[in-house]
Amino acid sequence: MARRDPSRAAVARLMRWYARAARDLPWRRTRDPYAIWVSEVMLQQTRVAKVIPYYTRFLKRFPTRARLARASLREVLRAWEGMGYYARARNLHRAARAMAPLPEAAWPTTAEAWQRVPGVGRYTASAIASIAFGEVVPVLDGNTRRVLARLDDYAGDARSARGEAQLLGLAARMMPARNPCGFNQGLMELGATLCTPRAPQCARCPLREACRANTRGTQALRPRPRVARRVPHLGVACGIVRRADRVLIAQRPAKALLGGLWEFPGGKRKRGETLAACLRRELREELGIRVRVGRERGALDHAYSHYSVTLHVFECTLVSGTPCAIEAADVRWARARDLARYPMGKLDRQVTRLFVG
Ligand code: SF4
Repeated sequence: MARRDPSRAAVARLMRWYARAARDLPWRRTRDPYAIWVSEVMLQQTRVAKVIPYYTRFLKRFPTRARLARASLREVLRAWEGMGYYARARNLHRAARAMAPLPEAAWPTTAEAWQRVPGVGRYTASAIASIAFGEVVPVLDGNTRRVLARLDDYAGDARSARGEAQLLGLAARMMPARNPCGFNQGLMELGATLCTPRAPQCARCPLREACRANTRGTQALRPRPRVARRVPHLGVACGIVRRADRVLIAQRPAKALLGGLWEFPGGKRKRGETLAACLRRELREELGIRVRVGRERGALDHAYSHYSVTLHVFECTLVSGTPCAIEAADVRWARARDLARYPMGKLDRQVTRLFVG
């Protein structure tokens, strides 16, 4: 028997529910494409509650695309600091600069055109096109993927190309020609608030009668759980090298992880290497200097998305050489009191607070 998609009445219930129950989020109070673009980029990897203050501050500091284009990358990274995934900030800045010759009101208006903007993938492009420009195009993010997989009781891998095509097809068939923004946002909101990964609140769900997983009791199995990967752990050492009231910092290459951010120089320990030997080698390779490694000030743990690190922080003394940016984008003797002006990742900012000064 052919499968039936959720009816128009079910879709209408979803949209009425969204109109009634939607959380009041700052980016939902605007149709300004710039503000929606910024919010969607920030929301790519970061929770709503964390994004709100960053979004508000960012728009205050860079209220228009032209203002963002005029800002330096350092200012933009500093405003982004603490949110992680800094490639998002670099791409936003690069895209604003690329669009700078256009009038402020000129924007890409379709998902296809938005996908040519640096840092904008399929999901973000579809979200911006439907929310800011009313394009009838479905969105597939973590929330809508879960809702659609449950609606369809989809037993395959919802992250595979085939699974995504199936779920996007379902969303496209359900999507009304009028108010595509309300439909997409309704699905996203449902996934964020009721159709959560654990313990979905099906009794309160506007789609409960149309939901196959609800009928079959398979909610906990949809989408199909992924096999957990083992996350590697790395030992890393960094040095605090001082000269009077200054301290040596290096800027990470633009294309590296945390590219464009500043750090205390150092790097990953190789197999069989002591932390002190690692630090001497890294500073020689990275900056062309020889150092004496002194006492360890402390160790900090941090988990990134694909690995975790323990950063060991050492006092170091410069023995010979003048720091040069050999494997870094730039190098500075920065006054300790000026370090706040340099964008840094979470660990290096902690090193600043705990061990410098
Ligand atoms: S009925 Fe339950 S599982 Fe189905 S969409 Fe609603 S909240 Fe999700």
